[in-house]
Amino acid sequence: MSASAAFDGDHPPSRTLIDACVHCGFCLPSCPTYALWGEEMDSPRGRLYLMKAGLEGRTAMAPSFVQHFDACLGCMACVTACPSGVQYAPLIEATRGQIERRFERSWSDRLFRSLIFALFPFPGRLRIALLPLALFGWLIPAGARRLEPSDKRAPRDSAPSDWRGRLRAMLALAPKVTWRSLFTSVPERTPAIGSRRMTVGLLTGCVQRVIFPHVNQATVNVLAAEGCDVVAPAAQGCCGALALHAGRLDDARAWARRTIETFDRAGIDQIVVNAAGCGSSMKEYAQLLADDPRWAARARAFSARVRDVTELLASLGKPRAPRHPLALRVAYHDACHLAHAQGVRQPPRDLLRSIPGLELVPFAEQEICCGSAGIYNLVEPDAAQQLGDRKTSHIASVQPDVVATANPGCMLQIRAGAARQQQTWSVVHPIELLDAAIRGKGVQEI
Ligand code: SF4
Ligand code: SF4
Repeated sequence: MSASAAFDGDHPPSRTLIDACVHCGFCLPSCPTYALWGEEMDSPRGRLYLMKAGLEGRTAMAPSFVQHFDACLGCMACVTACPSGVQYAPLIEATRGQIERRFERSWSDRLFRSLIFALFPFPGRLRIALLPLALFGWLIPAGARRLEPSDKRAPRDSAPSDWRGRLRAMLALAPKVTWRSLFTSVPERTPAIGSRRMTVGLLTGCVQRVIFPHVNQATVNVLAAEGCDVVAPAAQGCCGALALHAGRLDDARAWARRTIETFDRAGIDQIVVNAAGCGSSMKEYAQLLADDPRWAARARAFSARVRDVTELLASLGKPRAPRHPLALRVAYHDACHLAHAQGVRQPPRDLLRSIPGLELVPFAEQEICCGSAGIYNLVEPDAAQQLGDRKTSHIASVQPDVVATANPGCMLQIRAGAARQQQTWSVVHPIELLDAAIRGKGVQEI
């Protein structure tokens, strides 16, 4: 393709936000791609420099420019690390918006990305796509799900649209589903046990409701046990998180409007989310729809009512439901879109510590992404696998019984890493452990 100017005038990254960077480099050690390759242009500071060069016309919308933004996981570890308060989220989202609108990807890359976005935001289609796995998944030999552990650095210039690598990654990440799990769903309305403290709306999520319906059920169980009426509107669709994080901003806005409409009609006090990526984008609706005079105020009001389930439980105060002991060593992995994007670190730890007998075991590099990052582990499989292996090794070194993390993508990514390294620990959502403790389930049932 012929290279054009890096950015046009339709929502380029903000010069003011870029200029908040003082080039100190404190963010570099927590950036996963800098940790992998040690290259300035694959660090937050380097990417901000590239954005600025694009705004000033010193670089074009060329493959060499785009690859550094494609390689970014959008994990926001740089936001946590930055002492100057650089707001990287709106910058990378604006940059990706420009790339998705204006950069001409190879036909195979376009096709692969189109398939992802024609599938994942639509639970009905996702169920159909996963049916063969439910029916014939047992025929897939365990070895086919286990890629060789990566022991070398993938060259940064390897073709990002390598179909073989992407399909192998899909196979390695493929969930274990059953006919029953694919078609299970939570009730549309579940009453609080005992006196009602509030009414909450549950986002059931696209991937969550199809692949991890038991996480939604555990969320409903715990919320009801803690005195919440739970409404899970049947009309809800995708929240737009995948589209937003990939720069498909018009799609993200359309999903956001539909989500706001659905939950505004549901007569609820707060909106509860158990998937970190979804929660973080729903808290961003206010910015996403800020330029839309018909929706801006509604989006602001909506975002202000969104809570991660661990945050909501913490806000309820003293737990009401008794917890039975669970004698488990648990490694809690911070999902980036919970810890870095939403700043929610303590509530999930407090939730786990409220379970008698449960021991939280810390491990190294907890602030670094596991490589899941929305669709990243599908479109950038080499880098994602290296990060997944790195995360798995750190977890394995503390030998937990269970790994807990609050995002479906992280659960799949860490499970795949554990399979590669032949680790036997299970990977669950923290709410599943709390549900088990409240219901008095034994360790072997988790
Ligand atoms: S979002 Fe993550 S991968 Fe991207 S620059 Fe920041 S720390 Fe690095
Ligand atoms: S820590 Fe913040 S100010 Fe320092 S280089 Fe990184 S983004 Fe810029």
